[in-house]
Amino acid sequence: MSYCPECEAAIDEEFEDLGEIVSCPECGVELEVISIDPVEFDLAPIDDEDSEDEDWDEDEESHDEEYDKEDDY
Ligand SMILES: [Zn+2]
Repeated sequence: MSYCPECEAAIDEEFEDLGEIVSCPECGVELEVISIDPVEFDLAPIDDEDSEDEDWDEDEESHDEEYDKEDDY
């Protein structure tokens, strides 16, 4: 039995791979398995990477709009 570091809910699952990502059934936070025996979790750093990708897409779209305006002239 291990516990969510965010809300301390009991997570009664077994894991085999370090670095496996699971969602807490109580608070939904993404957890990374950092230890197998005993199982321990750390907060997964995935949200930061996702937001960086979104920023990239927004920049690309704004560039496309500028090129379209130039074509009209
Ligand atoms: Zn939790």
